[in-house]
Amino acid sequence: MQMTLKGDYFNGRFHQSSNAQEKILKRGPADLTQVLWEAGVYYDHIEPVIESAQKGFATWRKTSFEERIAFLKKYQEAVRARKDEISMALALEVGKPLWEAKTEAAALDSKVTVTITDSLERIKRETIKEVMPKIDGHTVYKPLGPCFVIGPFNFPCHLANGQILAALLAGNSVIFKPSEKTIYSAQLMMECFHAAGFPEGVINFINGTGHTAGKLTGDQRIRGVFFTGSKGVGQRIVENTYKDLSKLVALELGGKNSTIIHHDTNISHALPELLRACFLTSGQRCTSTSMILVHKKIEQEFISQFKAVTERIRVGHPTSQPDPFMGPLIDEHAEKLYFDFCNFGKQEGAEEIVSPRKLDVGFQGYYVSPSIHYAKKPNLEGKFIQEEIFGPNCFFVPYEDIEEAIHIANCTQYGLAASVYTRDADIYNLCLRDIDAGLINLNRSTVGATARLPFGGVKNSGNHHPAAVSMIDHCVSTVASLETL
Ligand code: NAD
Repeated sequence: MQMTLKGDYFNGRFHQSSNAQEKILKRGPADLTQVLWEAGVYYDHIEPVIESAQKGFATWRKTSFEERIAFLKKYQEAVRARKDEISMALALEVGKPLWEAKTEAAALDSKVTVTITDSLERIKRETIKEVMPKIDGHTVYKPLGPCFVIGPFNFPCHLANGQILAALLAGNSVIFKPSEKTIYSAQLMMECFHAAGFPEGVINFINGTGHTAGKLTGDQRIRGVFFTGSKGVGQRIVENTYKDLSKLVALELGGKNSTIIHHDTNISHALPELLRACFLTSGQRCTSTSMILVHKKIEQEFISQFKAVTERIRVGHPTSQPDPFMGPLIDEHAEKLYFDFCNFGKQEGAEEIVSPRKLDVGFQGYYVSPSIHYAKKPNLEGKFIQEEIFGPNCFFVPYEDIEEAIHIANCTQYGLAASVYTRDADIYNLCLRDIDAGLINLNRSTVGATARLPFGGVKNSGNHHPAAVSMIDHCVSTVASLETL
């Protein structure tokens, strides 16, 4: 697949120049012999991008909901027409198997319908009215202004898409900066916005790394920052924006997610769910399960069955080999972190049940095997328990009492997703009440979020501003004296 980059998008068209301040060379994680693209980063595009978004906002804020919906539907048609191309780009850039990349491309389409339905329903449901004799008081939703959406590498299109659509529908203009690791897939999505014919400046696109992102988040003209990425970068964004008191900063950050396997678990149901939770996208999901708290009564049986299915996982080239379950990791840094992390596990007393290995699948890429550890008495303050790994590792910790399991699940600095497998409704309700996480599933994988329920973490997993919802959270009140009309 030929991946030609077109530069940054503002004032309704792509712009490229010869004076790039930074260059980024992308080799495919699945086949390092292939250079996928080389991108230029233009600092002198930052100002025109912001100006473009301001101009776009001035026009867009005056449009009606119905007009905005019509543009979103045109975008939906464009996405539908290019879904195969987008899937292939996602597979080659991120390394996720093609079958999985197709689900991300399909979600771009379905998210349009979901966003429209949800926003309309929510506005209707949550408009506050206060009617007194001769006085009508109610709330009105208003856009924030130019918003900046920053994306991570693992879902280059889907996550930003959800935030962009909600922002546009609410009347904001948008600047989108994708991860510097996945520019081409994001560009395809931008081409779909272009095809929809939005007025100039309503949607904008800029490439770059921390420098570009930092300039934009810190700019006072940007009224909302919608960030999905790591805790460390989230902290930098807060440091860069805290003086601007009314800027909306929505952070969706990392996780260190637990799954509880209670003694009454239906094992044959739990095994494939847990396999997906731990190893889908090679563990590079914010909701991936890291820690598996398993009841002592069934630990031996459960671990041996889970080990057996893990060892059968197919790892392979995302597009050229038949349906692998896992593709490669995103880059060399991620591969190093994976092996380093497994070593921390050993240093902190965890036993290796399935060791991590570098794999030769016939292509030169970042292919690794999934790994499993067992920590009888984990160091709850250690790196192994506290840090997000973002690779295909999980570890078992045995427990006797459900309160003990919940306590260990809550020991990490994160609070994104958790699952509990049990047939006992009281155990589920206890977990629902006491686990500190934004998503708590019953007999379902931690990567099993739904399209419509709010999604966002607690503790260091984010500031609980599920993006799609917060975009329309900005409302003002009006009190009208009816006698004067
Ligand atoms: P990352 O934090 O390294 O990068 C994310 C984005 O931030 C990139 O676009 C990057 O260019 C940008 N960035 C870098 N420096 C910046 C700065 N100073 N200011 C503003 N932006 C800056 O994350 P990643 O490696 O791309 O993605 C993996 C992380 O994302 C994991 O921690 C994962 O858990 C998290 N994630 C969270 C969710 C969620 O919904 N909670 C979803 C997906 C991924």
